[in-house]
Amino acid sequence: MRARISAGALVFLLPLLLGVAMDESAKIEIYNATTGKTEKVDPVVQTEGEWKKILTPEQYQVMRGKGTERPFSKQCAIPKSGKGIYRCAACGTDLFQYGNKFESGTGWPSFWDPVSPLNIKIEEDNSFGMRREEALCARCGAHLGHVFDDGPPPTGKRYCINTVALKLTENC
Ligand SMILES: [Zn+2]
Repeated sequence: MRARISAGALVFLLPLLLGVAMDESAKIEIYNATTGKTEKVDPVVQTEGEWKKILTPEQYQVMRGKGTERPFSKQCAIPKSGKGIYRCAACGTDLFQYGNKFESGTGWPSFWDPVSPLNIKIEEDNSFGMRREEALCARCGAHLGHVFDDGPPPTGKRYCINTVALKLTENC
């Protein structure tokens, strides 16, 4: 005897099944630098009003308003152990390893590589009459800084990041 699904059950089940499928497709892949594994997570979406509550005024101006902090105006936290992970100050996504930080002399924290290309979204930025590559948090879309091609080996990249957009892991 074949199991039959009644029309009534289908009407009830279909949106549920579709909902699950849609939820899965909305997920993004983010690398977890602590476990070394890639995870499927939900993007972090907040209203501007919610971001204003979560972030300091300066963080809000940089991360949601694509602003830039004054160079040399902030001290980037240095981990005592010589290792650690800099995370997105808005959503906590792992962004950079301390070991990939270098002194660029620009007055902004600079890194030659992110923890994974999955965690940073690069977009073309043509503001202020310049053609630059903007670095955004892949999970919450926060503006972090810009990427330039004058970094050190092995990548030759310079991720020039606003200090206020970063927070250092506490366990370092
Ligand atoms: Zn983020």
